[in-house]
Amino acid sequence: MKFYNSLTRQLEDFRPIKPGQVTLYTCGPTVYDHVHIGNLRTYIFEDTLRRILKRNNYRLNHVMNITDIDDKTIKRSHQKYPNLNPAEALSRLTEHYEKIFFNDAQKIGIDFSDSKIVRATQHINDMQVLIKNIPNKYLSEDGVYFDITNDSNYGVLIKLDRTHTHHRINNDEYDKDHVADFALWKVKAGDEPSWDFAIEGRDMTGRPGWHIECSAMSVKYLGQPFDIHTGGVDLIFPHHENEIAQSRAAFGKPLANYFLHSEHLLVDGRKMSKSLKNFYTLNDITKKQFDPLAFRLLVLQAHYRSQLNFTWESLAAAQAFLRRLQAWADLKFQPELGRKKGAGQSYGQSLAKIIQALSDDLNTGLGLAELSGLVSLAEQEGIDIDKQSSLLSDLDALFGLALSGRSDITNHVRDIIVRREQARKNSNWKRADQLRKQLELQDIEINDTPHGPVWSRTY
Ligand code: AMP
Ligand code: ZN
Repeated sequence: MKFYNSLTRQLEDFRPIKPGQVTLYTCGPTVYDHVHIGNLRTYIFEDTLRRILKRNNYRLNHVMNITDIDDKTIKRSHQKYPNLNPAEALSRLTEHYEKIFFNDAQKIGIDFSDSKIVRATQHINDMQVLIKNIPNKYLSEDGVYFDITNDSNYGVLIKLDRTHTHHRINNDEYDKDHVADFALWKVKAGDEPSWDFAIEGRDMTGRPGWHIECSAMSVKYLGQPFDIHTGGVDLIFPHHENEIAQSRAAFGKPLANYFLHSEHLLVDGRKMSKSLKNFYTLNDITKKQFDPLAFRLLVLQAHYRSQLNFTWESLAAAQAFLRRLQAWADLKFQPELGRKKGAGQSYGQSLAKIIQALSDDLNTGLGLAELSGLVSLAEQEGIDIDKQSSLLSDLDALFGLALSGRSDITNHVRDIIVRREQARKNSNWKRADQLRKQLELQDIEINDTPHGPVWSRTY
């Protein structure tokens, strides 16, 4: 496999630390609100990475954190639950949005079933131990800071202007123009959740800075260095730069060997973000009757290192493509409607090409083009039903588009679909309409495509 490594800024052959095994850490969501579909793009990229690693027979050890304490979660929990004590308000808020996050993720085909999910608030002690292990730190009245002045490695991910380093920064999400010593730990300010912390003979009761959690949890579950670390490009600085600096300072070793970063989802040419208020959530997509998997397909059509401008038109086009793939998959279990003829011999070759494309720095666009070619062939020449069934589950393992799970409709529903199609063929529109209504009662919607009727669920 080949990956573009942000550390070296080149495409490299992938060599894991232990042959046949991969340790992977992906920075997870801050659970203070619904995630937006820009965030979801990054999680789809990481999901695709896991899928192709597994397909290439790597044993995968994946860890993702949930940021359930930081400036944003604390602020929002105060606003939402002013009458609860700060710790309770925080957990009420973060548990709620964590649940919604995993719900959204499931709808767009993200598979966390083999992933270890770890929460910052459950690893405070690990963070405190790590902070104590960092030599180049200092205590100030409002926290414990990482001193970047004599850290020659600081800036490995990004070229930095290091001339303004004689100040410190308390806020977690500063930018490259504000390079400074950053907070490892923040002394309790006002009505915040806090943990006891005695360090260098001083009482620093408070809470962690944002960056320290990933360093503490990755070394705990994956060791150091581990193989691959990922996130969106906005995490390169300061988040990943700071993670690298802390971890190297504490253990004298690199944090991870490969850093992969996915580009942003844009709206009208600007980064989709909460602060610009130009964001959509998955709810906005389903409210407009789009299939969540159409969004997944839209994301997969672009390369993860290219910016992707979101428009409703492009989502509609992705949904049309999805319906075409579903039509192709559905013919497998609708033999009364499908044509059963030649094609099939090229399935194996196509699958090999798709795997090759994904192994080459996740070239999902090329993989989907190959799939589209295969579907065109089947549309022209008919489908070999037997050969197709294993292909669909192979494709699902790679793309997560749920093409093979589609046969799980009941015989009753299938029967109605077939009868409706028959009625349409006989130009009995009234009957066809009645049958469509019956399907709607079962939460099944029918789309008539040039390749036949395609069903989808409406919930
Ligand atoms: P956050 O919850 O803000 O830490 O972000 C979660 C993940 O989403 C991180 O990996 C970010 O880099 C990523 N992210 C944030 N905004 C976008 C965007 N507009 N497009 C793609 N990824 C994003
Ligand atoms: Zn992180």
